[in-house]
Amino acid sequence: MDPRLAEILAEVKARRGRVLALTGAGISAESGIPTFRGKEGFWVVGSRNYMPQEMATLEMFERNPAEVWRWYLYRFGVCLRAEPNEGHRALVALDRALGERFHLVTQNIDGLHLRAGASRERTYCIHGDAAYVRCADECTLDLVAMPDMGVRDGETPFTAADRRTLSCPRCGGWLRPHVLWFDEYYDEHWYKMQSALRAADRADLVLVVGTSGATNLPSQIGDIAWRRAIAMVDVNPEDNPFAARARSMARGFAARGSASEQLPAIVSALC
Ligand SMILES: [Zn+2]
Repeated sequence: MDPRLAEILAEVKARRGRVLALTGAGISAESGIPTFRGKEGFWVVGSRNYMPQEMATLEMFERNPAEVWRWYLYRFGVCLRAEPNEGHRALVALDRALGERFHLVTQNIDGLHLRAGASRERTYCIHGDAAYVRCADECTLDLVAMPDMGVRDGETPFTAADRRTLSCPRCGGWLRPHVLWFDEYYDEHWYKMQSALRAADRADLVLVVGTSGATNLPSQIGDIAWRRAIAMVDVNPEDNPFAARARSMARGFAARGSASEQLPAIVSALC
């Protein structure tokens, strides 16, 4: 390990500091899950090819809920087949070692952190979680477990039985995936926005893994870390805005590499 990185981590450990891990698609890529923001997320409806930024919207769901569901059932199938990797397991070890001094904020909806054993109370899924659905009309503010609808491919049709399975047990309207869409906003009830910001306000180290901070809440967490001049470590195989920011900070470090390559040693240094 680079001596400067070792020094930053030793200091956090010595003062029994609080750690906020912020993860994005990079950590799941090693489990074989694509970001679905590129061409693997494209979806053909009739003769038109839709981009993920068009499919993952409330507007599209209101226009064509069955087709949006068909796309998500395919995507969720990819998530269900994937297994957590060394990066996920290293963060679980950190969660267990630090307890209340640890929080995890994830942009990933694939559920791999929780399946690896992350603590549910300390994991904030700020873009939602594929394991849950909820009433699209918000007749209740409770989450419902995602029904088991099998693993599907891009050709699987959407049937009348699927429509029944995806009906709200209370009002009979559509259930929707519990995910934040491109034309929606972060909030506390569904997406734990305030909890995530509070964890950033109290952290002594922000550990950024596999995200470039392209969305609003992750970049706000980077801003808080910078303003408070706390320690910040970026783990990413590629250069990105978080790495640049970490390098500009007195106690910042950009560790070039994947989560499974870098996290086990970083976590050992903190425990
Ligand atoms: Zn309902």
